[in-house]
Amino acid sequence: MEYKTNIGLEVHIELLTKEKMFCSCKASFGDIENTNVCPVCLGLPGALPVPNKKAIELAIKTGLATNCTIDRKIIFDRKNYFYKDLPKGYQITQFFKPICKNGYINLENKKINIKEIHIEEDAGKIGKSSPIDYNRAGVPLLELVTEPDFENANEVIEFLNLLKEILMFCDVSDCKIQEGSMRVDINLSVRKENESLGKRTEIKNVGSFKSIKNAIDFETKRHISLLKEGNKINIETRRFDENINETLFMRNKETISDYCYFKEIDISPINISKDFINSIKNNMPILPNEKREIYKNKYDLNKNEINAILCCKNINNLFETLIKNIDNKKEVANLIAINLFKIVNENNLDIEKFNFNINYIENLLKLFLVNKISRDTYKDVFYEIIINDIEPISFIEKHNLYLTTDINFIESTILKVLEENKKSIIDYKAGKEKSFKYLIGQCMKSLKGKCDVNIIKDLLLKNIN
Ligand code: ADP
Ligand code: MG
Ligand code: ZN
Repeated sequence: MEYKTNIGLEVHIELLTKEKMFCSCKASFGDIENTNVCPVCLGLPGALPVPNKKAIELAIKTGLATNCTIDRKIIFDRKNYFYKDLPKGYQITQFFKPICKNGYINLENKKINIKEIHIEEDAGKIGKSSPIDYNRAGVPLLELVTEPDFENANEVIEFLNLLKEILMFCDVSDCKIQEGSMRVDINLSVRKENESLGKRTEIKNVGSFKSIKNAIDFETKRHISLLKEGNKINIETRRFDENINETLFMRNKETISDYCYFKEIDISPINISKDFINSIKNNMPILPNEKREIYKNKYDLNKNEINAILCCKNINNLFETLIKNIDNKKEVANLIAINLFKIVNENNLDIEKFNFNINYIENLLKLFLVNKISRDTYKDVFYEIIINDIEPISFIEKHNLYLTTDINFIESTILKVLEENKKSIIDYKAGKEKSFKYLIGQCMKSLKGKCDVNIIKDLLLKNIN
């Protein structure tokens, strides 16, 4: 019997604000433990939370970018539970009225509905040098909840990549799954075709895209085999163990009543003006899906090139800057997708933090596109720019790498090569294409690579015939 899988995601996104959600402590990652704390985020009696305007702006921006409706009346609630990383004994969240609702993101072949996006504050975490590090307590988070529209891991990964692109291009979050600035909970159930949704389990905080795929594949199989053996699915929360590639029982799923939600009485409702929303709308960047369309339809780029150019903001900025002054978009895309990524991978560079001189790259590209240097020189000097920050023009001059434009010199060199390779000419005339290639190679060698290969081809053909 065939089973269908349904998956819904809850994605926690740490916002790129300087300050925490309800106090002015620094919201940064990796600082000395328990240094970014104050009475508000430590939950000391009498301390009052004040909502962070920038965080609300980023939530609205995310809602607009994911086709949500925005609720202009912002109300916060308390989610009560007792845990050592939660100093107040409750988390401020938006339970009854999320700021964004009913959005969607289009995958290539499918629409994934977003149920809601709400604002909340993060909890602390286990410290390395102290039992709990409260630097993270109170850091602004968005929680994005999808409908259970996914049917397999590939759709989930596609969605998360698109979401990540949107959040990065909108400067909402850096979405570093390994640093916890994007955290994904997977809800999964299986059912027979035509049946309503099955009982689900929840897999918490899966730590990488690869693990997300493995967790989904494992959990799907686990559900199916349980059902096939006539067992029931226990509604529970599980975790994914990357070492054994399996999900493991953590706890039974808590229910809404466990949390005793009620309104956050320390913060009065906030009314967002239409002007505020409009100003966010008017300052939205071009979204990655719009860019994707332009790259595909206007610039004729392929999927690999497009993915490379959209991998992160600084690479996209490199592309967009270069094409302002260079008509051959394809060549620019190629340089990034193939040459740059090769260098990045071979040298283990962090592409997001990566610095390079765009002017240098532009000057080099221009030289290549007007045939002043060979493709090999172009590649080699590009490497020098990326790795050693070498200025290309003086480098090319110093090493005498310009292509020869002296046609008489080229032709006399070619004639010499032909004189020394009479056998190859005969072979070529008898139909051996290889011999022609060999001749090109010999000419290149004599000219020390400093001639455009097309010029060599033309002159060879002219002189052979
Ligand atoms: P809760 O608040 O108990 O976590 P929600 O209704 O907020 O429940 O849903 C949480 C997530 O679980 C959502 O992403 C939703 O799409 C998903 N979900 C709900 N029911 C199912 C189901 N039967 N199968 C798969 N996913 C589900
Ligand atoms: Mg939920
Ligand atoms: Zn604080």
